[in-house]
Amino acid sequence: MNIPQTSYPRVVIIGGGFGGIALAKKLSKKEMQVVLLDKHNYHNFQPLLYQVSTGGLEPDSIAYPIRKVLQGYPNFFFRLAKVVSIDTKVRQVNTNIGEINYDYLVVAAGSETNFFGNKNIETKGMAMKTIPQSLNLRSLILENFEQALLTDDLHERDALMNFVIVGGGPTGVELAGALAEIKKGILPKDYPDLDTRRAQINLVQGGDRILPEMSEVASQKAERFLEDLGVNVWKNIRVMDYDGNHVTTDTSTSFETATLVWAAGVQAVSIKGLDGKEFLCRGNRLRVNQFHQVDGFTEIFAIGDVAQMETETFPHGHPMMAQPAIQQGRSLGDNLVRLVEGLPMKPFVYKDKGSMATVGRNKAVVDMKRVKFQGVFAWFVWMFVHLYFLIGFRNRVVVFINWVYNYIRFDREARLIIRPYKKQNQVSKNQLNKD
Ligand SMILES: Cc1cc2nc3c(=O)[nH]c(=O)nc-3n(C[C@H](O)[C@H](O)[C@H](O)COP(=O)(O)OP(=O)(O)OC[C@H]3O[C@@H](n4cnc5c(N)ncnc54)[C@H](O)[C@@H]3O)c2cc1C
Repeated sequence: MNIPQTSYPRVVIIGGGFGGIALAKKLSKKEMQVVLLDKHNYHNFQPLLYQVSTGGLEPDSIAYPIRKVLQGYPNFFFRLAKVVSIDTKVRQVNTNIGEINYDYLVVAAGSETNFFGNKNIETKGMAMKTIPQSLNLRSLILENFEQALLTDDLHERDALMNFVIVGGGPTGVELAGALAEIKKGILPKDYPDLDTRRAQINLVQGGDRILPEMSEVASQKAERFLEDLGVNVWKNIRVMDYDGNHVTTDTSTSFETATLVWAAGVQAVSIKGLDGKEFLCRGNRLRVNQFHQVDGFTEIFAIGDVAQMETETFPHGHPMMAQPAIQQGRSLGDNLVRLVEGLPMKPFVYKDKGSMATVGRNKAVVDMKRVKFQGVFAWFVWMFVHLYFLIGFRNRVVVFINWVYNYIRFDREARLIIRPYKKQNQVSKNQLNKD
C-alpha cells in the first residue's frame, strides 16, 4: 500500500462513515499513524439519500471526498480499498489492493440492507443504502412514468404508478412523504397526458405503528401527516415475497407494483476473520465492551452500526444511527490516545440527543429528551440539524439553496434519468431501454 513505516503506532480504520471520520479527525494531530481504508473515496450522508432518490438533491451534494476531510495532516493516509479479511493472529488487514499491518484496528464498516434471506426481494426489489442505489431508484421511478405513458394496458399502467415501500422507520416514512409530494406537485405538470391521480404510494409496516423507535405521539402524528399527503399506511402486515410485479404479504392484502423499495432492516457489515459466532450478536454486530474493544481482543475495536455495546439503558446496543457512531468515534479517539500514553481508558457513555424524521414540506416530528414537537417548527429543526451535520461548506450551501428553491417553487429539478436502470426481471409490453 506504500505507507511509510514510522515509530508511531499505526491505527488502521476500516470505513470512512460517520464513526470512522469522527475517529480519524480526533487522531489526526496526535502522534499516531492513521490509515483509513474505504471502498469509496467519499463519505456518504445517508440521511439525505431519499432526497437523491426523489430528485430533490443531486448526489454530489450529499457526498464528500474523504481525502479532503483530512487533508494537510502528515500522519494521515487514505487508501481506496475494499477490505476482504482480517488476520487477527498476525495483525493484518487484507484488501483488494494489498495488505497492511496494524497496531490498533478499528472496524467502522457500517451496515448493509438486510433482506432476511429473501433472494427474490433482494434481486427484484430496490434498496436505498448507497448513492448508486439511490440513483437507481430515481431512474426507476422516472422510467416507470415514462413507460406508463406508453402502455394501453390499464393494469400495467397502475402497477407502474404503484409504489410499495416496506418498512415504516424513518427511511420508509421520509421516502413515502417525498413520493407523495411528487405525486401532488410535480407529476400533474410533467405528465399532463397521464392520469397521475391513480398513482399510489403504499407504506407497509410489520408492527402496529410507524416510527417504532420514536414516541407514540410522533408515530401518530407522522401517520396523520402521511395520510394527509395521500399515502396509504398499512400496519401489522409483513411482506413475504415479490416476483417483480406482485407483492404477497402474510395477510390477504397484496399489491401489484413495478417498484418495491425495501427499507425494512439493516445488518452490520461482517468481515472475514471477525465473522465467527464468538464475535457476533444479533444483526451481525460485533460485541464490544465499554471501551469498544471487540470480545477477546485488546487491540481491535468496533464503532458505529457495526458495534454492539450492551448497556443497562441499551441492552441491544445503541441505535444504528449517526449520533452514536459520531460519539463513539470521538470517544475511541480519546481512549486510543490514553492507551498509547499508558493511561486507563474511559468507558463510553452515549448522550442521547433525540431523534427526528420528516414527512414533507412543513411536516416533521422531533423527540428530544424533555420535549417532543411536531409540524412546522420540527421541520425547521430537522433541516437545521441535517445541514449542521452535513460535511463540507459547499455541500451545506448547495443543499440549503436547493431546499429554499424547492420550497419556493414546489419543485425537485434533479428528476433526471442520467443512467437508466433496468430491472433484472422487468417484462413489459413497452420495453424501455432495449439497447
Ligand atoms: C436511507 C438511510 C437514512 C438514514 N437516516 C438517518 C437519520 O435520519 N438519522 C440518523 O441518525 N441516522 C440515519 N441513518 C443511519 C446512519 O446513516 C448510520 O447509522 C450511520 O451511517 C452509521 O455510521 P457508521 O460510521 O457506523 O457507518 P457508515 O456511515 O455506513 O460508514 C461505513 C463506511 O464503511 C465503508 N465500508 C463498508 N464495508 C467496507 C469494506 N469491506 N471495505 C472498505 N470500506 C468499507 C463504507 O463504504 C462506508 O463509507 C440512515 C441510514 C440510511 C441508509
